[in-house]
Amino acid sequence: MSEDTQRREELATQLAVVRERIRSACSTAGRSPDDVTLIAVTKTYPASDVALLLGLGVTDIGENRDQEAGPKVAAVRAAGLHPVFHFVGQLQTNKAGSVARYADVVQSVDRPRLVTALDRAAGYAERRLAVLLQVDLDDDADARARSGAADGRGGVAPSGVTALADRVAGADRLTLAGVMAVAPLTGDPRPAFERLAGIAERVRTIEPAARWISAGMSSDLEAAVAVGATHVRVGTAILGSRTPRR
Ligand SMILES: *Cc1c(COP(=O)(O)O)cnc(C)c1O
Repeated sequence: MSEDTQRREELATQLAVVRERIRSACSTAGRSPDDVTLIAVTKTYPASDVALLLGLGVTDIGENRDQEAGPKVAAVRAAGLHPVFHFVGQLQTNKAGSVARYADVVQSVDRPRLVTALDRAAGYAERRLAVLLQVDLDDDADARARSGAADGRGGVAPSGVTALADRVAGADRLTLAGVMAVAPLTGDPRPAFERLAGIAERVRTIEPAARWISAGMSSDLEAAVAVGATHVRVGTAILGSRTPRR
């Protein structure tokens, strides 16, 4: 068996397991699996894996670092493949120009300056970007926001979501599509995801079409689907564990 065939089978097997997990979680929640989009997060894995996944029916791809994503997206598109690309990582303002040229969705918008930078960059690129507000679900996020301290993982504190949503809604080139979050590092993810669902409802009072809730990863997608996630972002369960970056 060629290496490529072997990798394809490996990905097919793991993808089938993840799809079954989503189906089962939807069935438990009384939801249709069609209402949950699987985003394969391919960070650290090559463009060839992206191509194999698209061949297996994956439609949405996630990346978290501009430096890696830019060339990878270019390679995938050069091969005539056109998935929806989601940027899901922490984004420095000075990288907004680059990301706006290739991403379809930026899921990690968490501060006003980034909104301004992405809106301007999308204008230069003559594109529209869908945007999700990344929410910090840690218990002390609001207190930290008041003291001005950041935790390094990104996300706007729940108390800041409304102002940020207004800002995106007022931008020329950005479409506010919903909210995104990563569960806190410890504890049961479900209460955190429930809070996110409540915050999503608040965002919809500002932009009724902002229906996306991006939550759930390899270890906690069931908890996210149970409380209404529309998008799950799955890396290791499909592609295998990542070797740490240097
Ligand atoms: C890497 C990453 C994921 C996927 O995580 P896994 O645990 O590998 O499934 C999801 N969301 C974000 C923001 C990520 O950076």
